[in-house]
Amino acid sequence: MGNVILVKNPATGQVVKEVQINTEEEINQAIKAGHDSFKKWAKVNAHERSRLLSKWSQIIKEHKEEIAEIMTLENGKPLYESLGEVDYAASYIDWYAEEAKRIYGRTVPASTETKRIVVSKQPIGLVAAITPWNFPAAMMTRKAAPALAAGCPFIVKPAVETPLTTIRLVELAHEAGIPEDVIQCVNGSGSVVGRIFTSSEYIRKITFTGSTPIGKQLIKESANTVKHVTMELGGHAPLIVAEDADLDFAVKQTIATKFRNAGQTCVCANRIIVHENIAEAFSQKFADEVSKLKVGNGLDQETQVGPIINEKGYDKIVAQIQDAVEKGAEVLVGNQYNADKEQGYFFVYPTVLTNVKQDMVIMQEETFGPVAPIITFKTLEEAVEIANSTPFGLAAYFFTNNYKTGTYLHDHLDFGIIGWNDGAPSGAHIPFGGMKESGLGREGGIEGIEPYLETKYLSVGNL
Ligand code: NAP
Repeated sequence: MGNVILVKNPATGQVVKEVQINTEEEINQAIKAGHDSFKKWAKVNAHERSRLLSKWSQIIKEHKEEIAEIMTLENGKPLYESLGEVDYAASYIDWYAEEAKRIYGRTVPASTETKRIVVSKQPIGLVAAITPWNFPAAMMTRKAAPALAAGCPFIVKPAVETPLTTIRLVELAHEAGIPEDVIQCVNGSGSVVGRIFTSSEYIRKITFTGSTPIGKQLIKESANTVKHVTMELGGHAPLIVAEDADLDFAVKQTIATKFRNAGQTCVCANRIIVHENIAEAFSQKFADEVSKLKVGNGLDQETQVGPIINEKGYDKIVAQIQDAVEKGAEVLVGNQYNADKEQGYFFVYPTVLTNVKQDMVIMQEETFGPVAPIITFKTLEEAVEIANSTPFGLAAYFFTNNYKTGTYLHDHLDFGIIGWNDGAPSGAHIPFGGMKESGLGREGGIEGIEPYLETKYLSVGNL
């Protein structure tokens, strides 16, 4: 990597910008500065922290087009998705600007007349975040906003593919009046910066969004200094279509959740589990609609599906499709590519597979691409067994208008986020996060600020 990151446009392979990699010394200085700012920032009253966060959100919205264009250039997603992500990212700041004012403690009735018991909350200290490339704005603000609202200074390392969006958001935070040492960005490879973060005694919490193997490693490394951790890790979302589902609606929602960001989201519907009696009708309608999706450069107005982020991601998708086809899957649409390893661009056309079986790699390993495998089921028990059969437990979706079917699925699916007739359940106001190997903790909602707070209990005696 040398001492710069070459940020490339994944739609063309062209270099967009060079970003300086921070040295170990610079990163340690940033950590020390963040730590030193803690006492001062924690003392800023909650209403003032709220005002600064609101100002940050307002400035981000004023720069919406500029940030969206940066995001599409470095990530490849269609411009309308980037514009949507800027709003989504700002919505976390708006939400936690309000929550800053609602960090309540409580009093507890004492067991004797001579005591008073008070429980209060205080910020945990310096927070370090490591974020992925697939949502370069929202994955950062979802962590920064509650940390800053709680009174914690914040330092972030964005993914090497997409540092530009984060760098710009941090500049805008400073423009809004949040002190420079209270929110900082450092750049470098995850393995280097991650080790510096986890070994620092100044950092009290690591918040990570990324793959499950790296999350496990960060948990282990954080144990040495007993840091708090929040882990938003991989998913492999099932989407169940029951026999009674409204097929047109289910098709529309499945397309929205499957092909957003070219299938590169942690909550993408990766395993489409359809009742055998409607499987043919669903598959045909779905494939017809999928074949209409426009693939291309995210900056083109028409584009609905952009490029794959890099060669590694592309190779994994191609291998999953080939494995499925070799084991008997039928390609209804797709299995087409436009890639140039020399130039560095990688497009996978939206692909629908039927006759899919559980032993195919695509059913077991997280898919990060525009591929929709369809598997059939006879009974609800069987659908749940397939859905719960991986180590992941992030998001699950089901489509049914029967309340008994819906209640059964809700009760039996082991997932942190469930969409019932809803392919887009995310939002700043809800607790986002996974069960099993999809993570620890929740981001968003009233739950999302709790991981940045310590609980302190006071017992006053001899009254
Ligand atoms: P990744 O390889 O785990 O990378 C994510 C971040 O971790 C990047 O900043 C990366 O740095 C850093 N990293 C890599 N190795 C590291 C190490 N040894 N120590 C510390 N940090 C390290 O994941 P990805 O492929 O970029 O992102 C996709 C994954 O994220 C998928 O599994 C997806 O499901 C998950 N995700 C989860 C959520 C959620 O909310 N649950 C949301 C979005 C994505 P580099 O810059 O060096 O790569």
